[in-house]
Amino acid sequence: MSAPLNCVIIGSGPAGYTAAIYAARANMNPVLYTGKEPGGQLMITTDVENFPGYPQGVMGPQMMEDLKNQAERFGTKIISEFIVGIKQEDNGSHTLVSETGEEIAAHTVIISTGASAKWLGLDSEKEFMNKGVSACAVCDGFFFRGTDVAIVGAGDSAAEEALYLSKLCTKVHMLVRRDEMRASKIMQERVLAAENIEIHWNTETVEIQGGEEVEGVKVLNNKTQEEQVLDVKGFFVAIGHKPNTDLFKGLLDMDETGYLITKAGSTHTNVEGIFASGDAQDSIYRQAITAAGTGCMAALDAERYLTEKGII
Ligand code: NDP
Repeated sequence: MSAPLNCVIIGSGPAGYTAAIYAARANMNPVLYTGKEPGGQLMITTDVENFPGYPQGVMGPQMMEDLKNQAERFGTKIISEFIVGIKQEDNGSHTLVSETGEEIAAHTVIISTGASAKWLGLDSEKEFMNKGVSACAVCDGFFFRGTDVAIVGAGDSAAEEALYLSKLCTKVHMLVRRDEMRASKIMQERVLAAENIEIHWNTETVEIQGGEEVEGVKVLNNKTQEEQVLDVKGFFVAIGHKPNTDLFKGLLDMDETGYLITKAGSTHTNVEGIFASGDAQDSIYRQAITAAGTGCMAALDAERYLTEKGII
């Protein structure tokens, strides 16, 4: 194995590429492994209108291409492979293993592996992805203003997103599979108080319907077995996210759902030289801009670490 690299970044969403831009401009010669889903969650988004600096909006995949080009412009080496293993060495460096079995030694590792939205797993959900089906109300709700929409889920995310949508949309159908919600009491009260949110209890999604775009959703009441079609233009799925952190189990501290734990006000993990950024460590904000912000923080933390150790 060759001498340790200064900085390896795992993941290629806004956090990873922003970390790469900062690390490259600080002469850290970063190497970025893109992972299985290059570009991350923004690759399955259409227009992004809330990322500062794009007054006319930008398509998600285009924004990721721009970030990639910006990272490469300053010399980031980008490798289209997945990291499958990581271990800590006695000398303080880290060894990563790529999907091809190659071992890569690194003084610092920036984790930007993101999170994946959970989906219902219906064929029609895939068919209408970006044609009315979305897993992010804050990102896509605006496109459905003045229309009726449906949202699946009954946790805090679903409640929060239903309330967000209720301010934009004429009516929000909330599809709850049991006869109670998991969301905190205060969020439930808010949802129940919103005049244009109709909660459909014991209700499951059978199929999303439409032509070019979503036009309705067929739902089933699992108590009465009655089916009905709701006329909606948007179908939002808010049944949780899963951080892509399985690889770090046993090495890094994480909460019970797998989000990496960082030291307050920084991106330091419990292991020296390993920094976490983006949605892999953020269950709350989960926005491209916040991911980019923590990617920047991770590169600055890694640079300080390398300087303190006299490596650069
Ligand atoms: P949760 O795991 O809390 O809730 C997921 C919800 O989706 C549950 O109601 C679940 O139903 C439902 N669900 C899961 N699978 C399906 C399915 N196949 N079909 C229909 N419904 C389904 O996820 P959240 O993303 O809401 O929250 C994650 C964590 O983040 C929680 O701890 C939450 O409190 C926190 N959070 C906090 C916020 C805040 O404080 N402002 C905002 C957002 C999240 P069931 O209940 O039947 O299992």
